[in-house]
This record gives sequence, C-alpha cells and structure tokens, in this order.
Amino acid sequence: MNLIPWVLLGLISWTSAQGELPASEDKPNEAKLMSKITVGNAPIEQRNYQVAPSPYNLPEQSEPYNIAYEYHNYDQMTKFLRATTSRYPSLTALYSIGKSVQGRDLWVMVVSASPYEHMIGKPDVKYVANMHGNEAVSRELMLHLIHHLVTNYHTDPYIRWLMDNTRIHIMPSMNPDGFEVAKEGACDGGQGRYNARGFDLNRNFPDYFKQNNKRTQPETEAVKEWVSKIQFVLSGSLHGGALVASYPFDNTPNSLFQSYASSPSLTPDDDVFKHLALTYSTNHAKMSRGVACRSSQQGFRRGITNGAEWYPLTGGMQDFNYVWYGCMEVTLEVSCCKYPPANELPKYWEDNRMSLIKFLAEAHRGVHGFVMDENGNPVEKASLKIKTRDVGFQSTKYGEFWRILMPGVYKLEVYADGYVPREVDVMVVEQHPTLVNVTLHAAKPGQSFKRPVTSPPITMLSPEAAPSSNVDFSFPQD
Ligand SMILES: [Zn+2]
Repeated sequence: MNLIPWVLLGLISWTSAQGELPASEDKPNEAKLMSKITVGNAPIEQRNYQVAPSPYNLPEQSEPYNIAYEYHNYDQMTKFLRATTSRYPSLTALYSIGKSVQGRDLWVMVVSASPYEHMIGKPDVKYVANMHGNEAVSRELMLHLIHHLVTNYHTDPYIRWLMDNTRIHIMPSMNPDGFEVAKEGACDGGQGRYNARGFDLNRNFPDYFKQNNKRTQPETEAVKEWVSKIQFVLSGSLHGGALVASYPFDNTPNSLFQSYASSPSLTPDDDVFKHLALTYSTNHAKMSRGVACRSSQQGFRRGITNGAEWYPLTGGMQDFNYVWYGCMEVTLEVSCCKYPPANELPKYWEDNRMSLIKFLAEAHRGVHGFVMDENGNPVEKASLKIKTRDVGFQSTKYGEFWRILMPGVYKLEVYADGYVPREVDVMVVEQHPTLVNVTLHAAKPGQSFKRPVTSPPITMLSPEAAPSSNVDFSFPQD
C-alpha cells in the first residue's frame, strides 16, 4: 500500500498497519522516512548505552542452552544473560542502563528480530522486574521469558510475529543489591525490599499528585533516563506478595485525608488500563479468579484493581511512566509469596507464561503513525493527545507516535511549535492498529497558537500547592 503521495499532498490517511495478529510485513512509510532522516540512524542503545561485550569464553554451540528453575544471584544472572547474547546474537542485545548503589549493572536485554536498532514505526515495550529485591519470582520469570522467546522464535508463529514487530526490553532486576540480601523462603517482610541505602524504589519517582521529597536513588535515576531516551509504548512492572494486575493511578489527590478505605483514582484512559490489566489476569492460570492470598487480605474481582483503590502511594513508577512519557504501565503482582522455594518456580512460570506474552502484544492495539511537515520530514516532540483524555504523549525523532486505544472513534489533537495545530478523526478497530499520518503545515509569520497539550507532565496541582508526602502507607507493601 503506497501512502506516500497522500502524505505529500498533506492529507491525512489511515489504514491498517501491521495487519492482523499475527501480521504480515507492511511498512509503507519506512523506506521514505529512512531516506529523509539526516540525524543519523545509529542504534539507540549503541549511541546512548554501552552494549555489553560478549564474554571471552563463548559457550560451545553444542553446549545446551538452558535456564534452570533456580534463583540466579547477580553473577549467575549476568552469566545467563551473556550466554544468551552469544548464543542468539541476532535476536538479543544486552545493555546496562546504569549501576546500583553497590555498583551492580542494571541489565536490560532486548529480545527482538531487531535487537540493536529501533524499528521505525514499530513499538518498543518493556518489563521491569524485582524493583523490590525480595520479590524474587518476577526476576526468574524474566529469565525464563528471555529463554522462551529466543528458543521459540523459529517454531512458534505468534512469538515470531511478536519479535518481528516489537522490541521487547527486559530488565530482570531493578534492585540487584536488594536481591542479594533477600532470603529464599521468606514470603513476607522487607529484608531485601529496599535498595542498599534503604530506599523503596517504588516510592522514589516524581509524582503527579504530590511533591515527592524522597532523595532520588541511582536505580531510579537510571530508569528515569532510560524512559526519557526510548519511547516505550507499554510496560509491566513485576512485583510479588499478591496476585493482581494493578493499574494507574497509584496516587490520588486526597490520600492524606483518607482512611484505610481507599477510593479509586482513575486515569482518562481507564478503559484501556482495565483492558490491559484484564489481558494479564485472564491469560494467567489463576489471577482472574480473584482469590485472596491470605485470609487477612482482600480478593480482587477478576484479578485486577485500580492502584489507589487498593492503597495509595506517592512516587510510584507506573504513574511516572504514564504521566511523564505516555507509556502505559501496569503493576503485575505475580506471587502471593514474595520469595517462595525454588522448587515452586516451574509452576509460577507456567501460570504466567501466556500472560507475559499476550500482555506485550497489546502494544499493537490502537493508533500509531507519523507526524511530518509538508516536505515529509519527521516532526519531533510534537505534542499529541486524544481529545477528552488529558494525558498527552509526544512524537519521537522519527515523528512516530503510538497510543493504545479500545475500538471506537476518537479525535487526535496534534500540536508542534511553529505549525498550525490539527485535529484528526481516528477510527480504531479491534483487529489491527490504525495507522494515521499527520502532516503539519508551517504557521505563517505572526501566527501563533496556544499549546493545547502541556505534557509532560500535566500538573493538576502546582508544585507550591501540592502537599508534600509525609504520610507513608505502610500496610500492604507489595
Ligand atoms: Zn513490590
């Protein structure tokens, strides 16, 4: 399908992009855009992050490539990740986004048919696990997911479609220092939860609703920089201690005045977030049954909850992803016991395997496309939002944008400095993402337009008006 003449005429077009799930290749604009990009096509990770070199002692190709159902400490995890990149160099790339307090690398493995370079027009997604160092199941799930993806690429058409059309960034541990001091068999408690300076990393991010006075930590800084460099469309933050998929907002404007009975704090994209959470819970072996982990805990209807309705928290990672960068992140609580005995790991992997894969595929739902000027050059940092959904998102340096949306009719608002703003009608269907190319016309001299989108971030409360968070809810802690 050739859309380029439409683009040059300055029309707005939409049509199916990546096709049905699984889909055939259809990248109408890529070649054209590639030829126009002059800012350089160096792979994102090579430019910004040092890709880990392959180890000197490469494993023999005849040596079996396995992942044991055991917990992997930092050295063992690093060894497995390096072994994976040397065994599957065309499907994986390993990079570090920074170091923990004690100097351990914060590893990220990309698993994709294009591990080293962003595929223009195709989404980047991520999983971040083990940010609470004692919530250990998630860390092992990530290693098994990596193993599963690379070993099934050539035999499973769905996995192949996913990896051909998505760059999957997997961080098995955001808190490697905490994991080293956590204890196998400890279902509850806080030993290893915090980073090496005693900070809870899921209370350490800038907050939409309240000023976060916690001193920022190196692990948090690394993640903030990472999500500012790569436009992630969809994300899962994996935890343990409960069995539920919890969606934004985690915080609420009035939590200081609330008792233990919390009320929901819903985003303008609540329909999408509920759908994403349900995708995880209903593909999980048990989660959607909503059975409480212990008698003192509540069960969750269909295995999902709004974060603030469960318990409000300030400085969480999922609200930060969504409000600052338009990345839809859901918190996935994958085990009632935070650090169960290793012999239970096969069960956890089987329970979560399908959920982990299907959740990522949701990045291919909704609307995506390119913002370009009249000459077909990408417009970077255009501000976009769906009308009536006042959390915005931005175009990348290639002019790309994505927004996960449920089927329906929407108005897409596009604004960029120096251009005439546009409002574009978009129809989203169930079967495939809708491709929308938006051409912006240069504003005439003297013409000025009010910036309609103030993201990132949109401040509901001015920093002076925002109450500081000096109340920590200490009860559920998952
Ligand atoms: Zn947690």
